[in-house]
Amino acid sequence: MKLVRQFGGGAAEGRASDKALLGGKGANLAEMASLGLPVPPGFTITTEVCRHVMAHGAGKYPDGLDGEVADALKQVEALTKATFGDPGHPLLVSVRSGAPASMPGMMDTILNLGLNDDTVAGLAQRSGNPRFAWDCYRRFVAMYGEVVMGVVAPSEHEELAFDRILDDVKRKHRANRDQDLGEAALREAVALFKAEIKRATGTAFPDDVRAQLWGAIGAVFASWNNPRADYYRKLHGISAAMGTAVNVQAMVFGNLGDDCATGVAFTRNPATGTAELYGEFLTNAQGEDVVAGVRTPEQIAALAAKLPEAHAELVRVAKLLEDHFRDMQDLEFTVQAGQLFMLQTRTGKRTGKAMVKIAVDMVAEGKLTPRDAVLRIDPAKLDEVLHPTIDPKARPPAIAKGLPASPGAAIGRVVFTATAAAEWAQRGESVVLVRTDTSPEDIHGMKAASGILTSRGGMTSHAAVVARGMGKCCVTSCTSLRVDAAKRTAAFVGGGQERKIKEGDTLTLDGSTGEVFLGSAPLVPAQLGSELGTLMEWVDSFRRLKVRTNADTPSDARTARSFGAEGIGLCRTEHMFFQPERILAVREMILAGDEAGRRAALAKILPMQRTDFAELFRVMDGLPVTIRLLDPPLHEFLPHGTAEIEEVAAALGKPAQAIAAKVAELTEANPMLGHRGCRLAITFPEIYEIQTRAIGEAAAEVSAAGVAVHPEIMIPLVMVPEELRRLRALVARTFEAAVGSAQIAYTIGTMIELPRACVVADQIAAHADFFSFGTNDLTQTTYGLSRDDAGRFLSAYVEGGVLPSDPFSVLDPEGVGALIELAVRGGRGVVPGLKVGICGEHGGDPSSVGFCHRAGLDYVSCSPFRVPIARVAAARAALIEQGKDQNPVETKK
Ligand code: PEP
Ligand code: MG
Repeated sequence: MKLVRQFGGGAAEGRASDKALLGGKGANLAEMASLGLPVPPGFTITTEVCRHVMAHGAGKYPDGLDGEVADALKQVEALTKATFGDPGHPLLVSVRSGAPASMPGMMDTILNLGLNDDTVAGLAQRSGNPRFAWDCYRRFVAMYGEVVMGVVAPSEHEELAFDRILDDVKRKHRANRDQDLGEAALREAVALFKAEIKRATGTAFPDDVRAQLWGAIGAVFASWNNPRADYYRKLHGISAAMGTAVNVQAMVFGNLGDDCATGVAFTRNPATGTAELYGEFLTNAQGEDVVAGVRTPEQIAALAAKLPEAHAELVRVAKLLEDHFRDMQDLEFTVQAGQLFMLQTRTGKRTGKAMVKIAVDMVAEGKLTPRDAVLRIDPAKLDEVLHPTIDPKARPPAIAKGLPASPGAAIGRVVFTATAAAEWAQRGESVVLVRTDTSPEDIHGMKAASGILTSRGGMTSHAAVVARGMGKCCVTSCTSLRVDAAKRTAAFVGGGQERKIKEGDTLTLDGSTGEVFLGSAPLVPAQLGSELGTLMEWVDSFRRLKVRTNADTPSDARTARSFGAEGIGLCRTEHMFFQPERILAVREMILAGDEAGRRAALAKILPMQRTDFAELFRVMDGLPVTIRLLDPPLHEFLPHGTAEIEEVAAALGKPAQAIAAKVAELTEANPMLGHRGCRLAITFPEIYEIQTRAIGEAAAEVSAAGVAVHPEIMIPLVMVPEELRRLRALVARTFEAAVGSAQIAYTIGTMIELPRACVVADQIAAHADFFSFGTNDLTQTTYGLSRDDAGRFLSAYVEGGVLPSDPFSVLDPEGVGALIELAVRGGRGVVPGLKVGICGEHGGDPSSVGFCHRAGLDYVSCSPFRVPIARVAAARAALIEQGKDQNPVETKK
């Protein structure tokens, strides 16, 4: 197979669909070239070569690659009429990475390759602009020195040597900005850069252009495995095995004068989704200047005034590409001497809000069907849309304003380095990462931070792009901010004032307006826009799986209903026991020496539980409410430590020793496998009896007031059918006595949380009206992993690739899933149509919801804020199943 594929001159040896082989950038360059768009010619070295290098070692290329590269280069020379290394008319190229999955800025890029002391003269002469030629040369030497030869900054707080040298040269030549440096100064910079390379690496900068090219190709392949790329892949679940392609492309120059520019544009606003060409550019600059945030760029609309023809062409190309790919595109372009060139197009990363708006708008524009739109939604990203925002009624005055790069609100303590962000977050602190600008090295800190604030860079800077991808609040280009990372301080300067902040101070960011507030501002729940409503209507028309919520309080139940919950799938009654005014009665019940004592204490709990249930029934009027009877080991409710024991002893009028003795008696080595779940009621049936009475009385009371109640009473942790047979009889008897003459339809079911219960599900089903999989416990007991302690080492399993993901977050289809399927078959074999749901944490995880759909469950139940996510995940699962033969639209993240 060919290892090198050409593009340019209106043709290409590849298409957009060849991403696995050509990488995203290479495949789309080929597509753009085939569409006849203005793409500088070049070639792509395939990912196959990267995989070869990974298997055989750096610099070990497959046979024939040299020849293919030489041939491809000849083609580029023919199309550009320039020659690589020719001092008279030199061809310069860029060498860029391009993986099959988008990994913005994580790997390396080299521009202006092909310059040396001879060719720079040729470039100067042909362009008639020696300053430009030397500007390219100084950029190239610095980039090459850093990326290929490994000259790095000494520490996170310090500058790269090349930046320091350039600053010195600027000072010496009294230049404020890079653009103010003249030819002589740039020549000086090049000489100093080369000397620094020699000093730092012991090797001279290579003058031979072919050596430069192969050095750059090797470095780009090697950058596939650099730590930040590795981290990014883990974060986004991208396989390390795919490898990157390398794109070698003829340079076009945005830094050739004032009729030149470089920029990035989105075909729609990536923060809000508004249909407008959105982006930024810099005149007389090279692409890296925009992304790196070194100069703050201008809004794309200003290009219309400065370079009207190029702007009009960009508008035309942007529309053509968006229509062609039927999705919002993220474009890179350069204008050379007034002429537009396209350097990249890819699916644009967007916020959750923009994701929803773009999908819904594109349906209205006739570009997508509702089915496509739902398949475009990344359910997990909806989380952002549901986040709280700053209370508009109690907005404090802002101390600064930057660009609203990624929406939402963030409150956190200020840190100035990515390392500090990660360390503080590890300690449980919410942090705001404050920097001059961010670079790909900062990604771990950005991930750890709640929000990101930078003084430089625009809407398309590294900070903005990465933050949007992560759904993280971000404000960029806050020009009044001066950061001194080494001293761990910063200041907001303006209006003759200076407000200093230091590490550990609290800031609030509003990523939707770009405002910055000192201290913590009050938050209010998110306002759900009309687009989300439209999308959710489609979602609900496609899904089969019902979505319920796990809620123990009326307020959670209300939130969940507003998010579309179709019932309560799990009300954990023990959460109601922990309230301060109740815990004493619960403790009295546990400490009682006999049944009479327990009943006396339970009598105090009864009215409180009745009130709770009545309120939940009212909120969920007309919808099912699944109430689980007491589950945790009783020990959890008892006081711990001498002081607490003495306090409880005094309140209950009992000797402290008696309480300490009971605490000791109830202590278990393995409480999660101990006296808990329905085992409590096998020994103390009165506990379930009183709880059931409270449910029955509450149901009768609200039903009399006209509320439609559908109680479903659930018995946890059943291991043998006999447990359920006995407790069902107790619950049924008690409930019927409690409701008296009221006609209330109710059901009694069980949680399936133990492997044994899955295996004997047919026998259990004989006593159950429904099953609900408690996949938290089922995962714990299937893996033999403690759900409370496994977190300490599970991350090492996931990071090391021993486990694909944390099984407590993402349902394990092979083990736990197989047990679920077994139980569903067993249960429905005996009770056809047996209602089956899931209420473990997995009920809100998109891939687990997909599993539940395929396993034929009736519903999933999840925490209130995950209800919309589960609804979308359920619809997507249904559509993907239906569309298996219809070639469904690929999900765009
Ligand atoms: C479960 O085990 O999955 C469950 C929902 O119950 P809990 O988390 O309360 O043990
Ligand atoms: Mg459980």
